[in-house]
Amino acid sequence: MKSIQMVDLKSQYQHIKTEIDNGIQDVLDSCAFINGPAVKRFQENLEKYLGVKHVIPCANGTDALQVALMTLGLKPGDEVITTSFTFVATAEVIALLGLTPVLIDVEPDTFNMDLNALEKAITPKTKAIIPVHLFGQSCDMEVIMNLAKKHNLFVIEDACQSIGADFIFSDGRRQKTGTIGDIGCTSFFPSKNLGCYGDGGALFTNDDTLAEKLRVIANHGMKVRYYHDEIGVNSRLDSIQAVVLDAKLKHLDTYNANRAKAADYYSSAFSKCDKLTVPVKAKNSTHVWHQYTLQLHETVNRGELIEHLADKGIPAMIYYPVPLHQQKAYLDPRYKDGDFPISEKLAKTVLSLPMHSELTEEQLAYITSAVLEKV
Ligand SMILES: *Cc1c(COP(=O)(O)O)cnc(C)c1O
Repeated sequence: MKSIQMVDLKSQYQHIKTEIDNGIQDVLDSCAFINGPAVKRFQENLEKYLGVKHVIPCANGTDALQVALMTLGLKPGDEVITTSFTFVATAEVIALLGLTPVLIDVEPDTFNMDLNALEKAITPKTKAIIPVHLFGQSCDMEVIMNLAKKHNLFVIEDACQSIGADFIFSDGRRQKTGTIGDIGCTSFFPSKNLGCYGDGGALFTNDDTLAEKLRVIANHGMKVRYYHDEIGVNSRLDSIQAVVLDAKLKHLDTYNANRAKAADYYSSAFSKCDKLTVPVKAKNSTHVWHQYTLQLHETVNRGELIEHLADKGIPAMIYYPVPLHQQKAYLDPRYKDGDFPISEKLAKTVLSLPMHSELTEEQLAYITSAVLEKV
């Protein structure tokens, strides 16, 4: 059996090696490393795939979130609502820009934004909401967009983990995550569902004015070369990464389908076990399984389980071990232990298993039996 990885980029590369190698060689031959035709090609193909008017490539997902916030013309002290159970980047950029992160809890089944808490967190200072489509399925964008409209708020979707997932509106209409709010952000970090071979990211919007602003902010605040109308940043996707992404974009639906197959295998094996809670699929979203995350019941010792799996050559990860309001850099007198009980409980009980497009049935059988013999 092939060795088991959290994310098996090597095996995936072997299947698309010729296309990737040729594409990278073309970039080397052309020396168009920055703003070359490969970036434009990928941008247009991704616009088509997502059904969105504008894709603005940038350097990484964190930059995408920062550029999105910079574009909205917010002032220090303006409040931006996001969840306490997420990767730090979401709150980091809010804090970096002198805005005030307002944290709310998540739902115990989907790990996504608690919608009751969301409405309660809105104050006259609130300017934007950043829903995070955690682990690969969409937040309830219908409720979020309606609330945003009612209170005149911007919505920036953190779609770093959910590229390819559809939100399903109550009338049955489907839209890709990241294309529903004012601005969507994604990351092409190698281990994401659509990952490059370095750093990369992108912004999405259907609004022409916002698109223009995002492009300017991501490019030193300049529209005309060497004339800077506002303070921007330098955030670009390079041509080599674009070639890799364009090659992988063609396979994204297959990759996500393979992940779903692996998730189904896990869940059917684990659902009989009364010491584990398998991930719950939201009714109004498809799931692209960025992570397959179990909740361990009280009787299961997580540390011992991880050790047992490691002994058998099976990696497992805790996403995320500390909620944002308990992170040293984000400690804030507004929040205390116990304020976000679901996030705090999840941080103590979640365990993510290997999840990628190349998992074989043999590996899945091996992993599931290794988990079940210990819990
Ligand atoms: C990966 C990730 C980011 C940051 O993306 P980078 O490309 O690593 O900067 C932000 N938010 C979430 C939810 C992520 O998973």
